[in-house]
Parts: sequence; C-alpha cells; structure tokens
Amino acid sequence: MPVLRCINCQSDFPTSQRIYVCPKCAGLLDVVYELNKFQGEQAVSVWDRRRASAESIDQSGVWRFRELLPETDESEIVTMIEGNTQIWDAPRSAEYAGMNRLSFKHLGMNPTGSFKDLGMTTGITQAKRLGATSVACASTGNTSASMAAYAARAGMKAFVFIPSGQIALGKLSQALDYGAVVLQLEGDFDDAMRLVREVADESPLYLLNSVNPFRLEGQKTIAFEMMQQRGWQLPDRVVVPGGNLGNSSAIAKGFHELMERGVINRMPRITIIQAEGANPLYRMWEARTETLTPVPGATTLATAIKIGNPVSWPKAMRGLRWSAGEVEQVTEQEIADAKAMIGRDGIGCEPASAVTLAGIKKMIAAGGVNPDEDVVAILTGHVLKDPDYTVNYHAGMLSCTNKSGEKMLIESRYANAFMRVHASRDAILKALDL
Ligand SMILES: *Cc1c(COP(=O)(O)O)cnc(C)c1O
Ligand SMILES: [Zn+2]
Repeated sequence: MPVLRCINCQSDFPTSQRIYVCPKCAGLLDVVYELNKFQGEQAVSVWDRRRASAESIDQSGVWRFRELLPETDESEIVTMIEGNTQIWDAPRSAEYAGMNRLSFKHLGMNPTGSFKDLGMTTGITQAKRLGATSVACASTGNTSASMAAYAARAGMKAFVFIPSGQIALGKLSQALDYGAVVLQLEGDFDDAMRLVREVADESPLYLLNSVNPFRLEGQKTIAFEMMQQRGWQLPDRVVVPGGNLGNSSAIAKGFHELMERGVINRMPRITIIQAEGANPLYRMWEARTETLTPVPGATTLATAIKIGNPVSWPKAMRGLRWSAGEVEQVTEQEIADAKAMIGRDGIGCEPASAVTLAGIKKMIAAGGVNPDEDVVAILTGHVLKDPDYTVNYHAGMLSCTNKSGEKMLIESRYANAFMRVHASRDAILKALDL
C-alpha cells in the first residue's frame, strides 16, 4: 500500500489521512509506493496494451499508469479522459532557438486547456475517497478552471480564491461556467495561497493546490506518457515553466520512479525556466543557498507563473539534483517573442508556456545547451486562455510594469498586424498585392 512520506523527516502516514504537509515538521509530503515486481518490460507491456482499450480508465493518460498511482476503487475514479496530449516537432521554433530540432508536448490540449487536469483527476478522486463534498484552491487561473470542472463532474462544490484583476479572462470564464464559487481577493497569488491554506485547516474544504501530494501524482504521468509516445526513448532534456514549482517536481518524480523500476536507466535533465520578475528559484539556484527567499510583489504578464513564494521548491530542488537539472530566467520581451514564434509553428500557447522556448534560446546562445540535444519542452496552457495578451502583442500594444512600477512597452518584433481595408473589391485586391 502506498504511504504519505515527509520529504524532510521521512515520517510515514496513511494515504487515508487528510493532511497536506507533515504533521510533525510541516515538510512536504510524497506518495511513496512499495518497490514490487511491477518493473521494466512488464510495466511497459501492460501500459502499452491499455492504449488499445475502450475503457475510460485505460484511455486516460493518467489512470492508464495506475500501478504507480494511489490505490483507488475504479468506481471512485473521476476522469475526463485527460492526457493523451500531442508531441509536435516545431521547426520554426527550433530554428529561432538555434536548435537542430525541438519538440513540444502540449499539455494545453487537455480537457480544460492546461496540465492542471492531470493533477485534478487524482486530486478530486482523492477528495471523493476521503468523503469530501467541497474543495478549494488558490489560483492564478488554470487550477481554478480545472478544479471547477472536475468538481462539477464529481458533484462537489468548488471554491476558488483568485487574486483580483490578475487572472486571464479565458480562465475566469471557465471557473464561472463550471459553477465554482469565485472569491476575488484584494492581494496577489501568494496572499490567496496563504489564506486558502488557513481556511482549509479550519473547515471541511479539501485543499487542491499542488501542495496536495495527490495533485502531483497525476501530473507525474507527463513523464510516463511522454516516454510511451516516444516508444520509451529518453530525451536528453525536458524544459518546463516554473511557478509554484509543482509541475517540475512532479515530472522529475515521474522519471525517477521509472528509473527505480528499471524502465529507464538515466534521467533527462529537468530544466526549469522562470520569468525574471517572478524568479525566486532562479535566485536561489544562482546564489547556491539552502533555502528559498520569496520575491514579494512578483511581476510578469505570464500570470500563470506570477508567484513569488513557490510552495514546492524543496521538491523542485530535489528533481534538479536527481537529474543534473538547470534553472534559467527570461525577460518579458523574450517571453512575448517566443510565444509569437510558437504561434508561427501553428501550435500556440499561453504566455507562461513560452518561457520554455525563450529559455532554450538563451541557453543555446550562452553555450549551455548543445544544438543537437533531443529536447522536449512542456507547453502548459492553451493559446485561447489569454487572448488579450496575444491580440495586444500583434497590435503593438502589449505593455508590462517593471519592478519600480513603470510602464514599459514590449516591442512586437514578430507582430502579425491587422490590415485595415476599405470594403471594396478593388481596395482588397490592391491590399492583398497578389
Ligand atoms: C500552473 C501553471 C504553470 C506553473 O506550474 P507550477 O506547477 O505552478 O510551477 C505554468 N503554466 C501554466 C499555463 C500553468 O497553468
Ligand atoms: Zn516531517
């Protein structure tokens, strides 16, 4: 039976206990599995066989890998057949970064448009197992959209705490549409996170932020599915945006478990990219300190990673250690241009996802990444999540505020501006210049 184990003091707790952090030392918890005979070739063949099944728990890109997920009665599983997200090669983006090839695994192709669905199917299923009837999260947007949908599917009440005026409209509209109770708080994400944890501790609300280890169990299947789609051929490097640092931690855990079970024999280098205005992990990495110093008033237009006090940093550091990983930061200008490039490949993503390409480009230029490397970058959210950003960029009207609160216009270097044309056949033909 899997247990909850504190990554700090190593104490074990049953998975039936409703805790989010270690009751003894407040350390983060991992779900840890017994190292049984389910290993190597056998695991691969069981998982590969399920791809042809008509059962939803086999079709789900999460539950297909259920031997490495918390033990759950099949009838309790709340799934929207998440996962199965495409890996695409991206020649224009590769050229832009200076790579010979590059591929994107697009987690924005999940049911609610972000990777959060992978964690929410396991999170809501655990909520059900514990008998919870209401769930809560703080969110920069995608967690609330995903939690609202899965809670609705499970017949639970959802409460989302969002920082006021700092959430992309696509995401807010989803939370409203799926029937969540939306609380806009005067404050930033870090305030909302602190408050929802306090409220969950004193109420029946079950907390579904990524501090909850059951969220990360679903998200770690990104590693499993990526390997399965690639015929179990390892990439050299996996590049992932870093906000609250749950996803990078989860992906590292996924690869680590495959290694423990002899499915793979090394780890790809987990490479975490942050926005310069919200870069506490990058600062910690550069300064080689033992603990993370929060960045108060974190700022970036990539609202999904606008986080100054990331909860999962100890797990992210562990993943970097396991995989000889790296951390990089990128500017608002670099994010905006990289996003436009990913769009030109016919793929598209929300701003936070584009830090991956911006980071790779920067690392190539600095000589830290070899152009021949086999790199998979994780696109975390769908292009339609934040249409304002995209339209403003192409209209030459995208601006951000820097740390000192000054407004700065982002240069629209790859703008695809609208054409204004008089509504007549002649004017159109002239404008098209064919
Ligand atoms: C949540 C989110 C992130 C950040 O992931 P963390 O696990 O918080 O590091 C990045 N991009 C998108 C689109 C997200 O929704
Ligand atoms: Zn502990």
